[in-house]
Amino acid sequence: MAGQITVQDLGQNSVAVVGGGPAGLAASLALARAGAQVTLIRKRAGNDNRTTALLGPSMAFLEELGVAEGLAGKTEPLVAMRIIDDTGALIKAPTLMFRSDELGLAAFGHNIANSDLVDVLERAISAEPGITLREALAVGAEIMTDRVRIELDDGPAVEARLVIASDGRHSKLRDMAGISVKAWTYPQTAVTLNLTHTAPHRGISTEFHTKTGPFTLVPMPGRRSSLVAVVSPDEAADMAAMNDSELSVELERRSHSILGKLTPAGPRGAWPLSGLTPERFAAKRIVLVGEAGHVLPPIGAQGLNLGFRDGQTIAQLVAEALGSNDDIGSENLLSAYSRARSGDVRTRTSVVDIVNRTLLSPLLPADALRAAGLGVAGLSGPIRRLVMRQGLGAGVVERA
Ligand SMILES: Cc1cc2nc3c(=O)[nH]c(=O)nc-3n(C[C@H](O)[C@H](O)[C@H](O)COP(=O)(O)OP(=O)(O)OC[C@H]3O[C@@H](n4cnc5c(N)ncnc54)[C@H](O)[C@@H]3O)c2cc1C
Repeated sequence: MAGQITVQDLGQNSVAVVGGGPAGLAASLALARAGAQVTLIRKRAGNDNRTTALLGPSMAFLEELGVAEGLAGKTEPLVAMRIIDDTGALIKAPTLMFRSDELGLAAFGHNIANSDLVDVLERAISAEPGITLREALAVGAEIMTDRVRIELDDGPAVEARLVIASDGRHSKLRDMAGISVKAWTYPQTAVTLNLTHTAPHRGISTEFHTKTGPFTLVPMPGRRSSLVAVVSPDEAADMAAMNDSELSVELERRSHSILGKLTPAGPRGAWPLSGLTPERFAAKRIVLVGEAGHVLPPIGAQGLNLGFRDGQTIAQLVAEALGSNDDIGSENLLSAYSRARSGDVRTRTSVVDIVNRTLLSPLLPADALRAAGLGVAGLSGPIRRLVMRQGLGAGVVERA
């Protein structure tokens, strides 16, 4: 069957989305709502034990997509964010506490288990008439002037005017589009697990800045939190070798008992940290969405929030093109997408990279820089509110 084409009369509004992670799923829904006929090519991935802090604009996006109801009871509002300098540095940064009510908001965002988020999006997709699901892997792409043909490992090929590469950090479609990347690694591993604890979190997300990276506790419903502990690969291996009670003692020590006794609940994960930025965000009818277009360390909850903004942006551009009978895979549209996403992605990747590197650096000037940066962020008044708004990603969805 491979090689045959499912779409004989290729619609001007046909879009193929490759990859069913959270970024690809949200983009599929947004594109279908924008009037595209979407074919989503995906194979169900294994379990992801991580949670995602979805900031206010991402929650608003999910509401627009009509999935907010399905999230009820599965998310925890993040009412405050605290940063504690636990580096032991000579020049210590002040402890910062940002409260959402300083911006007149009930919460900065909500924390949700990735598995719940994917379930809710998948349910919405199965009820969406504008989306056809193909349970397959994309194994090749032939790029033509007016379309792209995606070859699958199972069943007929799919043709579309526009392809969304949401196939993750090792994106094959990105390579097929000829988009080169700058990629790098960090000497760090993020250990992830969910915990129950004896003291309430009061909706406060706490990021301890340590000499190996951030150690972040993010509230979940009830007396539960998710942990992202960025440590050296050796420490990650030590933690993986600990049994639950040894790990409980170690994590309570590292968290200075702010949540009381911690008990691991569920599987543990380990994510070697890396970074990636592409030279552009779209080429040859292929658009990068999610980690296909940006990878950055888990500091300040930016990754998937950026991924959702990618999906929103391409859906907006496709809606405009369809409204004026333009080609949805035109060079103009691809350039507009690249311009629109470039500033947001590059700025956040750089800021996160700098914060991470100042934590790792043994040099006094790096400590001074970080302490000064956090000191400025902690000031009262407009700068503080600007920092908080920028952290949320507010105002960055509009066109470049
Ligand atoms: C420890 C950690 C904590 C994080 N915390 C946060 C946070 O709090 N907030 C936040 O915003 N971000 C966070 N992130 C980032 C966030 O997890 C990622 O941005 C997000 O998961 C990326 O989603 P994605 O859909 O782009 O990619 P993926 O989830 O990797 O999905 C890609 C999908 O494509 C599929 N695929 C690949 N190749 C093919 C193919 N050829 N054909 C078909 N399918 C294919 C894969 O199977 C996979 O299902 C964190 C990251 C880490 C490592």
